[in-house]
Amino acid sequence: MKTIALIAHDARKDDMVSFVKDNFGILKKMRLVATGTTGRRIKDAGLEVECKLSGPLGGDAQIAAMAAEGKLDGIFFFRDPLGKHPHEPDVQMLLRICDVHNVPLATNHATASYLLLGMDEEMTRI
Ligand code: PGA
Repeated sequence: MKTIALIAHDARKDDMVSFVKDNFGILKKMRLVATGTTGRRIKDAGLEVECKLSGPLGGDAQIAAMAAEGKLDGIFFFRDPLGKHPHEPDVQMLLRICDVHNVPLATNHATASYLLLGMDEEMTRI
């Protein structure tokens, strides 16, 4: 079973919820991990998800640690490109860790849709 992480900054949470609803059938077949507030929104949408800390309190860092340990098959990180965030260093660290460890990373809805389709195709081939 694939494990993926979902994170959305506040300005992108509605976008994440619509992504989750559009792809409910595929996401249901995966183990989901999310930062705290994003995770609660995903739960409200009807999916099971393991919630880490909220992003500003270390949730991004927890997810980066999972990526570094090889525990994630992909990260869906809907970043807010227009706002300032107190945990920007953690955000940059997460992006860097994905590149260091070659972890698939989608930072917007369009890329996320393609990535998820590719992962689903791989799951159905196995
Ligand atoms: P949140 O964290 O899901 O707890 O809001 C996301 C973030 O800001 O990185």
